[in-house]
Amino acid sequence: MSDCLFCNIVEGEMDTDIVYDDDKVVAFEDINPQAPVHILIVPKKHIETISDIEADDYQLVGHIYKVANKLSEKYEIADEGFRIVSNCKDNGGQTVYHIHFHLLGGRQFQWPPG
Ligand code: 5GP
Ligand code: ZN
Repeated sequence: MSDCLFCNIVEGEMDTDIVYDDDKVVAFEDINPQAPVHILIVPKKHIETISDIEADDYQLVGHIYKVANKLSEKYEIADEGFRIVSNCKDNGGQTVYHIHFHLLGGRQFQWPPG
């Protein structure tokens, strides 16, 4: 087992229901949902924080947005709208240090965020 929770999920070592899987990313429901739809989209590549994204990863990040759009259709939140959040390090509220994109929908969100 890796000491990274999301690497373990990517490797299938956790009992996690995967809702999307391809050669670059997996997606699964957040264990502590903050909205009726709360999916985590996680690259299979271990990248610790948003600050660590390099030029080689730009296509991967674009791909994540493509998957987010696909999932927004599947979960029927595309028309009403949704929010994609990536928390970075302490001030951003990051708790798992393997980058991930929260896809949140199914309710009205406020701005500014807390
Ligand atoms: P962060 O706080 O790093 O932006 O987001 C980490 C997210 O991972 C949190 O929303 C948290 O609820 C979720 N999470 C933590 N552990 C697990 C787990 O074991 N399974 C799932 N599905 N989600 C998890
Ligand atoms: Zn990892």
